Amino acid sequence: MHLRKQMPAAVPIACIAIQLMMGQAFCDDHAKAKVTFKLLDVPSGQPTPAVVCIRDLDDGSVRLPPDGRVMKRVSLAEEFYRGISFHHDDHDWVGPPRKMLGKGDNNDRSYVYEELPSIPFWHEPVLYQTEPTFSITLEPGSYKISVARGMEYVPVVQKFAVAAQDQDHVIQLDRWVDLPSLGWFSGDVHVHHPTTQKAHQDFLLRYAEAEDLHVVNVLEMGHHRGTDFKQLGFGKEFRRRRGDYWLVSGQEEPRSTFGHIIGLNTTELARDLETYDLYDLAFQRLHDQPNAVVGFAHFSWNGCNLPRGFPWYVTTEAIDFVELLQFSRINTLDYYEYLNLGFRLAAAAGSDVPWGSTIGEVRTYVQTGETLDIDRWFAGLEKGRTFVSNGPALEFTVNGELPGSEIKANGKGKVSVRARAWGHPKVGVPELLELVSNEGTLHTERNTDGGSHELSFEMHVDIPRSKWLAINSRCDNGAVAHTSPIYVVVDGEPTWSPTKSQEIIRKQLDAIAVIEKEFADGNDIRSRAIQERLVRAKTYYAKLLEATRKSTRK
Ligand SMILES: [Zn+2]
Repeated sequence: MHLRKQMPAAVPIACIAIQLMMGQAFCDDHAKAKVTFKLLDVPSGQPTPAVVCIRDLDDGSVRLPPDGRVMKRVSLAEEFYRGISFHHDDHDWVGPPRKMLGKGDNNDRSYVYEELPSIPFWHEPVLYQTEPTFSITLEPGSYKISVARGMEYVPVVQKFAVAAQDQDHVIQLDRWVDLPSLGWFSGDVHVHHPTTQKAHQDFLLRYAEAEDLHVVNVLEMGHHRGTDFKQLGFGKEFRRRRGDYWLVSGQEEPRSTFGHIIGLNTTELARDLETYDLYDLAFQRLHDQPNAVVGFAHFSWNGCNLPRGFPWYVTTEAIDFVELLQFSRINTLDYYEYLNLGFRLAAAAGSDVPWGSTIGEVRTYVQTGETLDIDRWFAGLEKGRTFVSNGPALEFTVNGELPGSEIKANGKGKVSVRARAWGHPKVGVPELLELVSNEGTLHTERNTDGGSHELSFEMHVDIPRSKWLAINSRCDNGAVAHTSPIYVVVDGEPTWSPTKSQEIIRKQLDAIAVIEKEFADGNDIRSRAIQERLVRAKTYYAKLLEATRKSTRK
């Protein structure tokens, strides 16, 4: 222990002499050893890339392969702006060390996390990608390696001691759940990185493999002056694939003081500076592209001016999904309110890397059937065949139908609900499973003794009127998951809450009034166009209010 501190100056020369006598290569001033790790994917028996952190247990420092140097600083957003290159023939390749804990300054990790960890089960200050087999040269001492491969694998933490000899370790990465075998394929709806160079695409594909993240939506990001994170192109011919891992280009654009819009699976960059913050037109430009899916970003934390735009633009009924989970935060409060107005919004999750720590730290699971058909993945997302998670797995059906489904009912019967949340002690054990609806929480299951890694229930629910139904789960370590709703429709009535809607509509009108005031005196084209849209939204809410009142009287 502490050999390097106690060793007198003369000793290294002796060390060199001994090593030379033994035919070994030149050793520097400390007796270092090479530690080789082989990361093994247990289900396939194949070596796999993964995300790693190696730390010196004496001083807590993070060590980086291949030379074992102490990490001086974490990677910054600007490296992602420029683009990170990966080369298959570089066996010492190591990805950028991503900040996972502690307050960020938005150059390294979004400030929105505050003190929350980026991944509930990851307790190291950073993570970085490595090759399936990699080596690190370390001086004698005590160390720890942490390895993960997304939330479906059991993370491994292993201590090791380094002495004079080189050593080899095999790290077994095994699944605790195989969601693809159940038809659920993971994706991240919000990743920023250029794809113009092949080495950039290779970086993202290798990253997807290391995180076992199947669909990486790489978004070109717009603003009034131009766009960043340039994509090579949009549409099927520009999709890139390595096995069951895909890169699909999309856009985060427009981004104005009314919030940020996401277009996925697009065929071209939809951008018009003349009508930049008239989002109904932006939605139209995106929906005009076959199979494009439209979302509103940052819903999870009400960020990037979302509250200034969402309350009125949601009335266009052109938003397919919201980012319900991002930066370890989930926003059920607002989600339930919009569902209670009868809007159908799919639950999605996006990391927003490089402001999020790592791709797939929050995941959108889409049901595509047994194999990953990328077109079905986007069609499923649009329909809301989804759940979001940063830990536990969910299963939820109503009368055997999946999230996103509409079930017709006659108002006299019941529906049969099956719900299940399960996890792993090293990823998160569900302590709560809830069935929620427009009539509030209908059922709660709690893990009281912590003995089981699973919560589940089956029940029958009365359907006298239209209902949305969804489940959510929370784990002992703060990990969360939530499904999109299943909509049970009686007499063609929306799945709103007639009793709660008046109060919710009042909140929307208050938000609209703020923007109205801001543009009240404007007589330019943009101000007039915004005024017009605010009037449209108010008319929409007036009709909605009247309809829900009628519905209560019924
Ligand atoms: Zn954004």
